Amino acid sequence: MAPGPRRHGQTRQSQASEAGASRPRLTPYDLAVPAPVDPWTAFLQWLQTIIIPDWNGLIQLLPLLLIVGVVGPGLSLIALYWVFVQVTNRRGKVSVADPEPVVVAQLADGSYDYPANAPYCPTHHLVYPATARECPINSEELVVRCPIDSSVRVASQQLCRTCGTRYQLGAAISPVVVRRRGAPPAGGAAVA
Ligand SMILES: [Zn+2]
Ligand SMILES: [Zn+2]
Repeated sequence: MAPGPRRHGQTRQSQASEAGASRPRLTPYDLAVPAPVDPWTAFLQWLQTIIIPDWNGLIQLLPLLLIVGVVGPGLSLIALYWVFVQVTNRRGKVSVADPEPVVVAQLADGSYDYPANAPYCPTHHLVYPATARECPINSEELVVRCPIDSSVRVASQQLCRTCGTRYQLGAAISPVVVRRRGAPPAGGAAVA
């Protein structure tokens, strides 16, 4: 080989001749494009990275694995115990819900049979719990019917002006509605 700078074309040609010794009939185009790796070889190399463990890395990870192996099961046991306590505590627990207004059915003559001493909204035909004073739908004042003379007064007014009886709605009874869990018993929905 002659010393000194060689021209590009010469280098290309010498490489081509060297490669041509092992693999004949290689054009300069084949040399310019990198030969693709055999898919099977690539797969084997990739498999090697998975199968053969990196022992140094594993030993460095040992404390972490120890933590995960000890703390993980402990935490899951605690979580399981918590779920167990929640499930067993659920039985017998009473959940109180806000009393809801009851829709009054219309009678055959077109009137509504509102119960006495219960605030109701004459517009929406809803009977509210004794503590309610106005309809939440349109902030309309609720009215109440006197059980003695059936005169209607405003629910916030305690005194019946017809018979002079003073009623304090919701003073003695505080309605407690127990919310049922799950489906009502057979016939329960029909009764309600
Ligand atoms: Zn109303
Ligand atoms: Zn009255």
